[in-house]
Amino acid sequence: DYKQGGYHRVIIGDMLQDGRYKIQLKLGWGHFSTVWLAYDFRSERHVAVKIVKSSRRFTQGAKEEIALLEKIHSTNPNSPGYQHVAQLLDHFEHDGENGTHVCMVFEVLGESLLSLIKRFKYRGVPAAVVKKVAMQVLLGLDYLHRECGIIHTDLKPENVLVYVPNVETLLQERFHIHGPDTLPNAPDNNNNNNNNNDNVDGDHDKTAILDQVDTKGLTKNQKKKLRKKLKKKMEGQKRSQSHRNRENKNGQITSSILDFTAGDQNISVYENIVVKIADLGNACWTKDECVHLIQTREYRSPEVIIGARWTEKTDLWSLACMIFELLTGEFLFDPRPSSKYSKDDDHIAQMIELMGDKLPPRLTLDSEFSHEFFDRHGHMKHIKKLRYRDLHDVLEETYRDGHQLDLLTEFLTPMLQLDDNDRAGAVAIMNHAWLHE
Ligand code: ADP
Ligand code: MG
Repeated sequence: DYKQGGYHRVIIGDMLQDGRYKIQLKLGWGHFSTVWLAYDFRSERHVAVKIVKSSRRFTQGAKEEIALLEKIHSTNPNSPGYQHVAQLLDHFEHDGENGTHVCMVFEVLGESLLSLIKRFKYRGVPAAVVKKVAMQVLLGLDYLHRECGIIHTDLKPENVLVYVPNVETLLQERFHIHGPDTLPNAPDNNNNNNNNNDNVDGDHDKTAILDQVDTKGLTKNQKKKLRKKLKKKMEGQKRSQSHRNRENKNGQITSSILDFTAGDQNISVYENIVVKIADLGNACWTKDECVHLIQTREYRSPEVIIGARWTEKTDLWSLACMIFELLTGEFLFDPRPSSKYSKDDDHIAQMIELMGDKLPPRLTLDSEFSHEFFDRHGHMKHIKKLRYRDLHDVLEETYRDGHQLDLLTEFLTPMLQLDDNDRAGAVAIMNHAWLHE
């Protein structure tokens, strides 16, 4: 990806924008960009510089991202949600050997929520921390939706970053970076070996694994039991597999170098936790005609899969999936294709199994891909046997903490309404008792 139209090759010590910014450390990377710690000689503090790939497509995308970020920056600094969205400080263009790169400057933030999930070994982040995070993300979303007229469209743990209150001290202590200078024996972070951060869907065939089992000679009941047992085992394997894939794929997970807890597991460290919604790279305006494919697979809403017109409510679906994942360490939806149905089929089936048959004709009949999933009666075409299970039961199985189950179910349910017209907005959710008890 370090080629014409690709990433800019950065060397530690490089100066950008006529000597204003000095590059010091690599913070992370995404599909579109690499992100660097730099010293800003004008404001005399450290900043994060996102250097976007240089091809026309990425440049155009970055310019749209800047327009959205400028709207966010200028609309209402007094809004309680303002401080929960990463703010753009500056932007400029930089000419390099691979082309001209748009650069965006942000305040330095820390690790993502994904690295928090990982820190708690995929067993769930403590509920008290999740409540704080959820409240802040809701404030941020409400600001984006109602005040800025913006839909994020890619809400997920990777894109919510933890604020680091004492960046300068942390840089000095951990990386021997003091102002624009790197002190002797600082670790070398000029690592340009990037893998691809694409959200490639893994594919493991559910039925195929079940079919491998020889069930000859067993009674009906024995078969049933065996199947159940195998399924559970497989589910576990699948789960750890998808986590492994994820760790390999995500630059973010290795880049939690600004972990503000310094590895401290004690929950009290998180009492000052502040998070910010980041990566507006896929965001769009609420006033636009929104129909294109958005969101990362696991956080994708039913209306998006079915090809209906979507709204800001699609972010609340993703938020519910993210909160579930924070609490349990597992994906709420992790669809798989089989020889008989597609991954999208499985995804929609899982949604219906969880939330019941509440899809309106607008989705089952009148949307762009309705006919691919549903017959004219609104029943699924390729998956006939649905195994209904309700959210309360799913939480009971996966949520180890298990505390306040009824309240939690009641909190998540309005965000997971299949019909986005019935789905609650950020303000309504914010008042729910689960967040405040
Ligand atoms: P992309 O659009 O290429 O996905 P992101 O905005 O998601 O880019 O940034 C890529 C990664 O860089 C993030 O996942 C995170 O690890 C890191 N990063 C982004 N912004 C910041 C920031 N303000 N401070 C620290 N690290 C950041
Ligand atoms: Mg990203």
